[in-house]
Amino acid sequence: MKKNISIAIDGPAAAGKSTVSKEVARRLNFTYIDTGAMYRAVTYYAISHEANPRDEEEVKKLIPNIYIELNPNGTVICSGEDVTKVIRTPLVSSSVSYIAAMVSVRLFLVEQQRKMAKSKSVVMDGRDIGTYVLPNADVKIYQIASVKTRAERRFLENQQKNIPCTYEEIEQDVINRDRIDSSRSFAPLKKADDAIELDTSNLTIEESVQAVLDIIKEKVKE
Ligand code: C5P
Repeated sequence: MKKNISIAIDGPAAAGKSTVSKEVARRLNFTYIDTGAMYRAVTYYAISHEANPRDEEEVKKLIPNIYIELNPNGTVICSGEDVTKVIRTPLVSSSVSYIAAMVSVRLFLVEQQRKMAKSKSVVMDGRDIGTYVLPNADVKIYQIASVKTRAERRFLENQQKNIPCTYEEIEQDVINRDRIDSSRSFAPLKKADDAIELDTSNLTIEESVQAVLDIIKEKVKE
């Protein structure tokens, strides 16, 4: 095996990428990098500093003050504040795709993501990891599931985390984010030509984890 391995897991909203990526990283002893949490942290920072999340000029001005830490224990710290929970709220979810379409925000975060993948073996999940952030990733997976499955899973997850929301709200959010994420001009959500598509609609978490581990085993020995 070569020194640092990078695994890119992309796909639409709430396809279970982070649950699967986290567990795959744990079993391989790799570092898990949740790039969605970084876009969410910038969004929360913008909203809480009264910037309009659809106005790039306003958001761009805040960038020099934004420091994001993704900790191994899963906490997300943004400029000194623990934002782990608040970045999952409907307020942030409904604005994040506008912020993520801003080139200035993407360049700021992609630079950090590439740095993180340079020094260690990583499982990185997001929308543009295989196409833009790590085009030479050793393994690229495009994880999908039906809208209904994704909305149901996210609704249950939010209930377990005590994040108030309705099923309809979640379904609409998933549809809206996919539309904005796949239609933006810079690094849109898209399956990389060399990515392997994995449909997890009828798979349990453990089956999805196993499927990803099998793909990695196959690809990394090539
Ligand atoms: O992965 P998660 O659903 O938490 O990501 C939240 C949002 O962040 C996505 O809907 C998308 O707008 C943005 N995102 C992105 N590129 C990434 C990761 C997330 O544009 N690599």
